Amino acid sequence: MLQGLDSVQMAHLRELTTWFLHVKAINGAHGLEVTPAMRVTVAAQACLLILNLGTDYFDNWVEVILYPGAFRVKREQTDAMGLVHSDARVLSGESWLRGPVILSWDDVERDSFQQTGSNVVLHEFAHKLDGLNGATNGQPPLRRGMSRQRWADALSAAYEALRAQVAAGESPCINPYAATNPAEFFAVLTEYFFTAPDILKDCYPEVHQQLAQFYCQPASR
Ligand SMILES: [Zn+2]
Repeated sequence: MLQGLDSVQMAHLRELTTWFLHVKAINGAHGLEVTPAMRVTVAAQACLLILNLGTDYFDNWVEVILYPGAFRVKREQTDAMGLVHSDARVLSGESWLRGPVILSWDDVERDSFQQTGSNVVLHEFAHKLDGLNGATNGQPPLRRGMSRQRWADALSAAYEALRAQVAAGESPCINPYAATNPAEFFAVLTEYFFTAPDILKDCYPEVHQQLAQFYCQPASR
């Protein structure tokens, strides 16, 4: 994942990773002992997102919680009719608006060394960037000079095309989980941008161009 970086960018990533390890807590849960190597593995991948954005983009939260493996969450929601629905799911990661990022170490470890378009660290921290302006909706605060309109046009056209494909039962060129909502779309496409950029370029060239401007990454991405 770091292969496209030159020595200046690698040095900057190292600095950011050090900053991350100083200001953010990475705690184990369910008996997981968090080693220095595990901390660096999480921090370096998270900081890849903000390599050219700056540390402000990781404001508003302080904690990462690592579970040994995928974890089960149970949520109760009350619908418009007053019925309470209980929903249990198994997750590899979760990101709370202004709260912690929760990751399954099994999944972090597996995703850290493969280039497949799947990376739980990038996914969950992309939600953090997205949520900076108060809601996760696929619209992170953009860099100066970027057009919100162009961003929204490119991402919503691609999102609608993906949803239409999924609804028609076709198999899309990216993980269909991206069709869940605009926030998941942004998070999943971020995974592709960093780990399988060629798939993203082929599939959604305009989205790739917007993400390249936003993350301001080397041309090789
Ligand atoms: Zn997500």
